[in-house]
Amino acid sequence: MARIVILGAGISGHTAALHLQRQLKNKHEIVVVSPNSNWNWIPSNIWVGVGKMSKSQVTFPLAPIYRRKHIDFRQAKAVAIHPEGDASESKGFVDIVYTDPTKTGEEATLTYDFLIVATGPKLNFAATPGLGPEGNSWSVCTANHAEQSAAALEGIIDALKRGERKTLVIGVGHGTCTCEGAAFEYTFNVEHELRERGVRDLADVVYLSNEYDLGDLGVGGMIFAQNGFETSSKLWTESLFRERGVRAILRAHVEQVDPGVIHYEELDGSRHTLDFDFAMLLPPFRGVEMKAYAKNGDDITDELFAPNGFLRVDADYASKPYDEWAPEDWPKTYQCPRYDNVFGVGIAFAPPHAISEPRKSPNGTVISPAPPRTGMPSGVMGRTVALSIVERLRHGDQAKLHTASMADMGAACIASAGTGLRQGSAAAITMFPIIPDRRRFPGSGRDLKETSGEIGLSGHWTKLLLHYLFIYKAKARWGWFLIPE
Ligand SMILES: Cc1cc2nc3c(=O)[nH]c(=O)nc-3n(C[C@H](O)[C@H](O)[C@H](O)COP(=O)(O)OP(=O)(O)OC[C@H]3O[C@@H](n4cnc5c(N)ncnc54)[C@H](O)[C@@H]3O)c2cc1C
Repeated sequence: MARIVILGAGISGHTAALHLQRQLKNKHEIVVVSPNSNWNWIPSNIWVGVGKMSKSQVTFPLAPIYRRKHIDFRQAKAVAIHPEGDASESKGFVDIVYTDPTKTGEEATLTYDFLIVATGPKLNFAATPGLGPEGNSWSVCTANHAEQSAAALEGIIDALKRGERKTLVIGVGHGTCTCEGAAFEYTFNVEHELRERGVRDLADVVYLSNEYDLGDLGVGGMIFAQNGFETSSKLWTESLFRERGVRAILRAHVEQVDPGVIHYEELDGSRHTLDFDFAMLLPPFRGVEMKAYAKNGDDITDELFAPNGFLRVDADYASKPYDEWAPEDWPKTYQCPRYDNVFGVGIAFAPPHAISEPRKSPNGTVISPAPPRTGMPSGVMGRTVALSIVERLRHGDQAKLHTASMADMGAACIASAGTGLRQGSAAAITMFPIIPDRRRFPGSGRDLKETSGEIGLSGHWTKLLLHYLFIYKAKARWGWFLIPE
């Protein structure tokens, strides 16, 4: 009996666990390690952040699902990987520290035959002094953060009702952030909420981003075919900002967040301040803190992990200029180059480079989005690696690995722009491929027929439907596997 250890029970890790269990039944042991007792449908945190959903609507406890599926769940965080074992253990193993309230702080080791690293991001608020809920701004990255944001927003709405003017700043809190789509969504949900509550006229809503242009979203923007004409995500997004009266500050790196004042640098090197009453600024991401050791105890963290803390997989990490970036740089199997029984999926794998063109200010500050790894690709990677492991267990070490490169994958993203079954709206974006391929698709690098953008009420219904569908799937209810990632 082999043991497969999965670190992380988010979109990619949980998907991998469920597919492994479905394929392997109880013939092999599946162990999931995650410090959180709950699963969180993170995209709906946006609605928690405006008070339209509660935390309990976007989270559920993992333990009962894993018990039902005979998956061994350890509420713990992984702190180190020993891919070669050590002097007394020949197999690879991980060091874990329990966060389970019944044994908090207890240490343990878990040997594995296969390891999937699906630990998502470390929310790196520390990169910007004063950023985050423990500093002077809010976040919607976790359901708890989103609840705090909703409470703070409520206070602002009360003040607006009293006739006070307020400035609300929403965006990203560092020049290298990713997840601009989430900041965009929260901006328009807040704007919608203010209108619904009759206080929009006294509120200045500002979108603060590291994107070069509106609509970049960390994927270098998109060109769409619409009614026989070509349009861009830039034009499309700009018109939405105009229509909703949202002011955008772009090409910005937030340097510091003081109480009520954001200090930021622009791409031209100039420095500015922006006063605010409410700020929700997403943090930059880096890999979670994990060490790696060779059999003799040597620290090999730098070999296994890239400097940003993400796991190196089968990508081409050679540094090259933007115009030499190629779709082949992106990983296909998510297998670690040095240890073929270790895989990294979702946000946890180290991308070879950005997707948006990299830019620096004259002061040397990087101000351009890091590449997003959204839910759909993260789920697909989880399933793909699960199927590869199944193949290896059934047919041995030479079995072919399954592949799912972001250069061959499309993505569909629905950015909510306000809730409500009759009043809601959302921007629905599809793109193919995620990584532009200018040889296959000269010009924008994407297939115009499969890259589209549409905004309207039906997008909101779809987003709401996805909320229920993905929670149903994650609960591994009847027929869950029929719902695509
Ligand atoms: C506010 C917001 C809105 C978003 N909206 C959308 C959207 O609308 N559509 C979309 O496609 N994507 C969206 N995303 C992105 C989406 O949430 C991510 O793509 C997805 O969660 C990535 O999955 P993952 O499994 O890599 O990481 P996660 O889902 O973050 O899971 C990581 C897991 O690892 C665990 N973990 C952390 N540290 C350790 C450790 N040391 N040991 C073991 N486990 C650990 C965590 O507890 C968690 O269970 C949004 C993101 C944010 C922040």
